[in-house]
Amino acid sequence: MHRSIEFCGAAQTVTGSCHLIESNGKKILVDCGIFQGNRELRDRNYAPFPFDPAEIDVVVVTHAHQDHIGRLPKLVKEGFSGKFLATKATIGIARIALPDAGRIQEEDARRARKHGSRHADPQPLFTEVEAYEALKRFEPCSYEHEYSLPDGIKLNFQCAGHILGSAYAELTFRDGTKLVMGGDLGRFNTPILRDPEYVDSADYLVIESTYGDRLHEREDPMEEIARIINETADNGGVVLIPSFAIGRTQEILYYLRKLQNADRLPRLPIYIDSPMASSISEVYLRNPQEFDEEAKAAEDLKASLTEPLGLQYVRDKEMSKAINKQPGPFVVIAGSGMCNGGRIQHHLLHRLSDPKNTVLFTGYQAGGTLGRRILDGEEYVSIFGTEVAVRARVERANALSAHADQQEMMDWLGHFQAPPKKTFIVHGDPDAQQALVARIESELGWSCVIPAQAERFALP
Ligand code: ZN
Repeated sequence: MHRSIEFCGAAQTVTGSCHLIESNGKKILVDCGIFQGNRELRDRNYAPFPFDPAEIDVVVVTHAHQDHIGRLPKLVKEGFSGKFLATKATIGIARIALPDAGRIQEEDARRARKHGSRHADPQPLFTEVEAYEALKRFEPCSYEHEYSLPDGIKLNFQCAGHILGSAYAELTFRDGTKLVMGGDLGRFNTPILRDPEYVDSADYLVIESTYGDRLHEREDPMEEIARIINETADNGGVVLIPSFAIGRTQEILYYLRKLQNADRLPRLPIYIDSPMASSISEVYLRNPQEFDEEAKAAEDLKASLTEPLGLQYVRDKEMSKAINKQPGPFVVIAGSGMCNGGRIQHHLLHRLSDPKNTVLFTGYQAGGTLGRRILDGEEYVSIFGTEVAVRARVERANALSAHADQQEMMDWLGHFQAPPKKTFIVHGDPDAQQALVARIESELGWSCVIPAQAERFALP
């Protein structure tokens, strides 16, 4: 019996999830995401895979965030010819997110060629057409259903409660050995989505650690949003919400609508400057089977998930520019969530230096991103080559995170009936990983490993 796991991404860093499992010569990849953050990380996306894509038998996809799916087109381009197994909702989101990423890559490459770049001939990681090519490989799976993989391995997806369609993958080998691939773990009692399922056993466990050293604020995020918008609106300011198009935007819209229903928000324009966010909202509406009881019971689900009162979609650049000249108060929700691209950058360029305005962060800000620099309190940041003073109020609604925090991870792990032989900690910055390992070792007494990039372990 020869069995191993190799960590080809998200090893001692938060992005680039890609794990290779080998079993008697068969090769299963779990996720194939892009690296995000600083230049060194981004360059890794262009490096060759540490395996031959043509030799991979199947890819198991845990969820549709770019750091879990963003290198799938590259995998196909370089010879992979098998299937991508994922839940129906994950495929629905990938159908929007991958072509969109391809389009952005092409635009970035074009711009780099025009304005000069450190690369002699800047190329997109993949094109929109290549993204569509990759989408043909997806095959939909249901939760809690057994699927057969090569070498007699059984696959079972369980709800991870992280974003729509998110799952962790239970792989059971022929001899009964069980490997649980954690994907990203969501949170309990968040709006819209069902809670993560508990696992009671695994021989080997791979878990994320994005917030392994932190506790989210227990304050109700809806209360925070209400307070921040009301205070900013009273001063005639603008609330900029850098938002992830997948999940976070729908959650914010849901809260805004609930606040409006309770008469707790002033009537003001809410601009969604992200065509992708609107398309993703449609995917949510098509997958109500993933909702929790509260969302299912919502009087008008469509309004809750996609259209609070005063909502306006920003269709084109002209309208986006017009908003830049418009006096507050109003709210702008735009991507990207970490401000390292997308239309939010234009809004920040125009609004960041005015103390009347507020930037409200709603998720994790990776090191090296514009969002992280603003959040870390830098006095000046560079946007499109312009130095901009950061005078706007900066707030963070941490409770909105889609990732479990340290305590929630511990609660989830606490449902195991027996310790795994080995627990691999991935998808986190080193500090977060070490903090989580310290707690797991001291409180649960489990054996943990923080794998390095390209490190490989036997799974006896
Ligand atoms: Zn994720």
